[in-house]
Amino acid sequence: MGYHTIVIGGGVAGMQCASELLRQGVAVTILEKESELGGKIRNWHKLFPTFTPAEEVLAELRSRLISSPNLAVRTGCEAAKIASDRVVLTSGEVLECDSVVVATGFTLFDAKVKEEYGYGIYDNVITSADLERMFNEGAVRLKSGVTPRRIAILHCVGSRDEKVCQRHCSKVCCVTGVKQAMELKRMFPGADIFNFYMDIRMFGPGYEEMYREAQVDYNVHFVRGRISEVSPTIDCRLQIKAEDTLTGRPLKMAVDMLVLLVGMKSNALNENLVAECGLKAQPSGFMQPRDSFLHNVESNREGIFYAGAVTAPKNVGESMNEGTAAARAVVEWLAKR
Ligand SMILES: Cc1cc2nc3c(=O)[nH]c(=O)nc-3n(C[C@H](O)[C@H](O)[C@H](O)COP(=O)(O)OP(=O)(O)OC[C@H]3O[C@@H](n4cnc5c(N)ncnc54)[C@H](O)[C@@H]3O)c2cc1C
Ligand code: SF4
Repeated sequence: MGYHTIVIGGGVAGMQCASELLRQGVAVTILEKESELGGKIRNWHKLFPTFTPAEEVLAELRSRLISSPNLAVRTGCEAAKIASDRVVLTSGEVLECDSVVVATGFTLFDAKVKEEYGYGIYDNVITSADLERMFNEGAVRLKSGVTPRRIAILHCVGSRDEKVCQRHCSKVCCVTGVKQAMELKRMFPGADIFNFYMDIRMFGPGYEEMYREAQVDYNVHFVRGRISEVSPTIDCRLQIKAEDTLTGRPLKMAVDMLVLLVGMKSNALNENLVAECGLKAQPSGFMQPRDSFLHNVESNREGIFYAGAVTAPKNVGESMNEGTAAARAVVEWLAKR
């Protein structure tokens, strides 16, 4: 075909998109700002809903890319501006191409912004991303080295929250909370795990079944209520105050560990893409596809495409499917030029 596409972002969406483009004879350059491909799931342990190790998915994606002579991977390269025929890096270097796929994903909400939960202040207040890393390192324990006996998991941290200007639902954190509660129970069968939620949103296939399994087979507790405050106790535990919104009663509980399910936020780069590249974003800050039904991997500018969580919170399967869809849309567009 003789065409060259730049895929910005080497997460699951970008990797899948690149492999499909290569399969269809398009030369690809992947630009990744980190030192390795893989995106966020490089840090995840097992993936809901099947508990497949994240590393297994990444190994397969890497193997699909590895042997192609038409692929260039540039790590440590950050894109700053784009047009359909070029990408400008933060270093000032300009790379030319025939089309661009933006697969830059999302940013994790910074839990320190919600000071009332004590992240970065109290030991043993961690985020869901920290917990994934601890699972990977085989080191889930308290700062003191002791095994946790009672763990609270708080939903909607930095999502559905007007106060921090993040009104959207991050979509994957309810099921992440259920997945992590089940993993914790497998690790510490005697521990009590409490999920504090506003609503349980189980969007995908197998998710509702996981939620039931967590309650029935793993004895994970679900409390409808929001934690308002966290403070340390004299014996180095965490005192949480909440309201059980089903019974209307205030609730106080001492736990050993608090896990904050941090939301998916749009990337800071998106503001640049709007201000300097003529692209459109949604009120949530995620990029706006040309159309939600018929052109959901296309941008409002010809020759610029989207894949994965850059347009909205998504799970791994959805992000990879969009990688494939974006590659097919690119090929169709290149053929029509
Ligand atoms: C705590 C947590 C646990 C999760 N667990 C699961 C799970 O069990 N199962 C599941 O299905 N989903 C899970 N998810 C969702 C999953 O992480 C996403 O679906 C997936 O990461 C989206 O992939 P992506 O490629 O779109 O974006 P990302 O993973 O964000 O990848 C984007 C890539 O683009 C790069 N990039 C960004 N900007 C630039 C730039 N300017 N120039 C160059 N490169 C750039 C980034 O460095 C990154 O490598 C979880 C999410 C969270 C927060
Ligand atoms: S998926 Fe659940 S935890 Fe995440 S923002 Fe939506 S309701 Fe809250």
